[in-house]
Amino acid sequence: MGIVERIKSAFSSGKRKRDVIDWSLMRPTELSPWSKGVSDVAKMPTLPWLGFRFCYELYNYSDLLRTIIRSLVQETFRKGLTIVPKFAVKCAICGAEYQTRVAKCELCGSDKLREPDKKEFDTLRWWMEDVNFNDQSLVEVLKEIDYDLNIIDNAYLAVVKKYTFNENGEVIAAKPLEVLRASPEKMELVMDKSGRFARSDDGRVVMFCLVHRDRHHLVDEEKARDARCP
Ligand SMILES: [Zn+2]
Ligand SMILES: [Zn+2]
Repeated sequence: MGIVERIKSAFSSGKRKRDVIDWSLMRPTELSPWSKGVSDVAKMPTLPWLGFRFCYELYNYSDLLRTIIRSLVQETFRKGLTIVPKFAVKCAICGAEYQTRVAKCELCGSDKLREPDKKEFDTLRWWMEDVNFNDQSLVEVLKEIDYDLNIIDNAYLAVVKKYTFNENGEVIAAKPLEVLRASPEKMELVMDKSGRFARSDDGRVVMFCLVHRDRHHLVDEEKARDARCP
């Protein structure tokens, strides 16, 4: 997945239903058996031969490697970021988006179509200049991510969001408060031994409440869909 797609997916909240896991099925995993973690559900990937620290040291001490990686990052971001409209017109009734101009919505037949909002463009352009409390621009954060990718092939873009809920407790809006680089040397992955995300080793689902994000809850698979914060 390219860096742009990853950023896009960080800001969207796709809800796709998934089949229940069949625990008798084996799956390959990239996670090495020496993985460690400080909490019981999170694991830290370890590289068997060359550790992250070694790769960073190599980058710091090798003029050649540093020059190559700096050029790669510089060329990647030379033109900066371009904001492109997501659609030509969008149906105001069903939300269908069209890349070319249409007279009527092909899905619901409505003629209430709107064009991209100039205000949203201005908001994004303004926001991209200062995306965190360290006063970094989005490009500066993404450059850091790109350095990580080029040096150790691992990178984490942390997007801290504030959520708005309706009366049923469902998320209706998410506003990114900060976008930061998270150090790959410190990140731990919530996954089971076989690399299934958000699962504990005993097969339960690891969940976080979006209001109280400092602790996790272990929930049985069948109860996970309508789990509530205790
Ligand atoms: Zn429509
Ligand atoms: Zn809670």
